[in-house]
Order: sequence, then structure tokens, then C-alpha cells
Amino acid sequence: MKNKDLLPSELRYDPVSQDWVVIATGRARRPDSFAKDRKSVVLADSVEECPFEDMDTQKTPTLMISRGARREIVAGAPLPQDWTTVSFPNKYPAFAPEGSFVTRIQGPYEATDGIGFHEVVATRDHARDVADFTLPEAEELLAAYQTRFLELKKVEFVNYISIFKNKGAGAGASIAHPHSQIVAIPMLDPEIEGSIRGSQSYYAKKGTCVHCDMLEYDRKEKIRVVYENEKFVAVCPFASIVAFETRIYPIHHASRFEETSKEDIGFFADALVLALGKIKKALGDPDYNYFIHTSPTDSGEYGHYHWHVEILPKSAHWAGFELSTGIPISTLEPEKAAEFLRTI
Ligand SMILES: [Zn+2]
Ligand SMILES: [Zn+2]
Repeated sequence: MKNKDLLPSELRYDPVSQDWVVIATGRARRPDSFAKDRKSVVLADSVEECPFEDMDTQKTPTLMISRGARREIVAGAPLPQDWTTVSFPNKYPAFAPEGSFVTRIQGPYEATDGIGFHEVVATRDHARDVADFTLPEAEELLAAYQTRFLELKKVEFVNYISIFKNKGAGAGASIAHPHSQIVAIPMLDPEIEGSIRGSQSYYAKKGTCVHCDMLEYDRKEKIRVVYENEKFVAVCPFASIVAFETRIYPIHHASRFEETSKEDIGFFADALVLALGKIKKALGDPDYNYFIHTSPTDSGEYGHYHWHVEILPKSAHWAGFELSTGIPISTLEPEKAAEFLRTI
């Protein structure tokens, strides 16, 4: 994993907002390269220039390989020609497992090394995204997430594992080939921290899970429900932050994604493919991000938390008001978005 060309990234603390930021210098970009890149953000769009096409001949270091239903953890093993899903270390990691936890104080500022893991999960077909997957293909991808999550969870300093996917340049992807990323870090990010705090304080007040209460209401009222199978439900949330935001929840309370049974992964895959397919149809193949929010892997007690997936289609760009206040403006009622997605 050691790559001498890589500079370690740095975590810097903003003493005013009290947020951490990552200064990821791994790509060692020159300041004058930004003007050029702005014009073509997707760097590898065609199969010819795609770095994920001939990985089996490039000696890509592997962390997990699937060949159809066969899943193997073979760190460092050569990638077979018949691979269908593979995970490998990100070539330009925002977090890397080398460095020191020592905090460096510089005047009013503090910084530390960006220690963690940053991995890629790629699926074989260049042109088919998750929305077009068959059920077994989607199950294979979600099982790959789960396999890597369980491995990374074993590392003592890892306290949160973020699984996410960026599709399209508008969603921040730099490679068009369908892929997801997994970042394992020592601290809890502000998003998950806020979400856990909210769930915890609701539980302290009412003794129930806030997500279970919302789901019970939404499933009775039906107007925000997009789709539901035996185990999972997709809803457009009451307080959506963008038009067509869709969340997928296990119907029965569950705090940890990684503990999902093999059978339930099938129901999760069904709901994910269906929701993404509907969003693709409704918005004309939009760029999107999705991510899993699940309990941290530190020693905390998170029984009150309910894991889920958030799908955020790029139906709008955050502008001055959103950036300055943190208050999103969504231009469609989630009830209307859900109704449209149900019928499409
Ligand atoms: Zn490709
Ligand atoms: Zn719950």
C-alpha cells in the first residue's frame, strides 16, 4: 500500500466552526492545474481511457474480489480475468494508514495526519450503473460493501466507516466507470455525529427510535412512500434537502448495516435498484450521490440508531444562501416527488 509519490493528507481544525477539514494533497496538484480541470471534470469517460478496464493486467492490488457469486478476500492476489466486483486501495487517498496521531499546534490552529483507509469498489461493466443491475449483481455489490466494512471494523483506530457512491461529474466523480468508495476514519464526522445526537435525544425523551416513529407514520400515511418490499422501504423524507431525495430503511429496527443478514441484503438490493431506477427515469439519468448512514464502530452504545441509505440526486446546486446558512432550499414537495416516483 505504501506509495512514495503520495504526500500524506492533513486534517485541519477550524477553531471557529469547530469542524475538521481534510487537505488531501495526494494528487500533488499544482495551483495552475485547477483552471484546466474545471473544463472537463470527468477525466475518464470513454472505455478507451478508463483506468478500470484492464486492471487484471495492471497488477492492481486487491482487497476483495467477486467472481459472480464467489467472493474471496485475497489481499494482494492478482485480479483474475473473470472478476465481477473488486475492491482496491484508492490511488489518491484522502486518508491513508500511515502517519501519526500527534496533534501539531500552529498559533491558533491545530492539525494532525489524515490517518485512515480509503478504498474503491468497482463493478465490471463500464456502461451499467446500479440502477440497471440485476438483483444478483446488486446483491454482490452490497455484499462487497459488507465484507470490506467488517474487515475495516477490526482495525482498532477505525471509529467510523463511510460507504458512498458519486455518479457523474456533477456529483464529484472523476471516473465515469461505476464505482463506490469506502473511507474508514478514527473520528466521527459532523454529519453522523449530528444524526446520532438527534436520534439519541429523541430516544432519551420518548424511549423510541425516531426513524421507526417516522417510518410508522409515513407507511400509514403512504404519501411519501416510493416503494416497499417485505423488509425495506424507500421514502422521500418529510424534510427533503433536495428534490427527489430518497431514503431506504430496513423496516424493522436495525442499528448496524454490517449485521444485515444474507437474506435481507437481497431485499435491500431490490429496494436500492428499484429506487435508483425510478430516479433515473424521473430525472433523465441524473448525477447523484448515495451513502449509508450506520452506527459508528467505536465502543459507544448505538442501539437507538436506525441505519439507512440516503440518495441525493443532483436536482439542484447549493448556492449562496445554502452555503452561508446551511439551510437547503428544495424546489419540490417530497409528497409530489414520491407520487411521481411511485407511478413511473
Ligand atoms: Zn471502465
Ligand atoms: Zn428504528
